[in-house]
Amino acid sequence: MSQDSQPATALRMIDIHKSYGSLNVIKGVSLEAKDGDVISILGSSGSGKSTLLRCINLLENPSKGEIYLGDEKLELVPSKSGELQAKSRKQLENMRSRIGFVFQNFNLWPHRTVLENITEAPIQVLKQSKDEAVGQAKLILEQVGLVDKIDAYPSHLSGGQQQRIAIARALAMDPQLLLFDEPTSALDPELVNEVLAVMRDLASQGRTMLIVTHEMRFARDVSSQVVFLHEGHIEEQGTPEKLFENPSSARVKAFMSSHQ
Ligand code: ADP
Ligand code: MG
Repeated sequence: MSQDSQPATALRMIDIHKSYGSLNVIKGVSLEAKDGDVISILGSSGSGKSTLLRCINLLENPSKGEIYLGDEKLELVPSKSGELQAKSRKQLENMRSRIGFVFQNFNLWPHRTVLENITEAPIQVLKQSKDEAVGQAKLILEQVGLVDKIDAYPSHLSGGQQQRIAIARALAMDPQLLLFDEPTSALDPELVNEVLAVMRDLASQGRTMLIVTHEMRFARDVSSQVVFLHEGHIEEQGTPEKLFENPSSARVKAFMSSHQ
């Protein structure tokens, strides 16, 4: 890459719509992330943040729109119900393997150790050898500060530790894109910062991330771009300076002043 070339596109969503029956939840959202972007998605409860995130890897099927991961278009075809579904299961699985998803409730496998949680997908999906996967897991555990928990079961960890393991599990796939849906909302307040610290670290390493969060200070510090969703459309989008300090939308202004 020459010095003056632009970062490549990591993700592009074009005119995404999603409805549940007659309820239109996402009403034509287009969003692009460049490599290294950290995009925070803000908005009131019910504005469609989770649904939008889940449409990216078809945890929810959009009713309309286009999705690209890098240059690769996810091939979609209408199903009987009218929703779009992946044309090729194989392509969907491949794209999912390149997108890490961190949920509010950690979603670790309870009957597997930390090490097994982290190495399962690299071994099964990426066909890494066990030695290779274990070696890599140890490095990632160092990064999230939990090497000493390698043989622990999730139920023996705090919520903050479980979420750091969930992040480690996502990192083990070396994803092109990391999606976070309110990763600290289920945590006791004193455990929030240890998770945010790991995420700050990832942002500073240039990881491309889309983050739904209510942690305003964090969003302001780490984001390259902030998107404010309201009733399924983008109310305002811009730099953190713009949205936090001088939003054009009165709705965004009211939200910001009630959340910080
Ligand atoms: P947010 O994450 O911003 O709180 P969601 O994406 O979860 O918002 O929800 C957006 C809207 O879609 C809400 O009105 C919610 O009730 C509705 N919704 C979400 N999931 C479903 C579902 N599986 N079935 C029907 N309605 C849903
Ligand atoms: Mg949500």
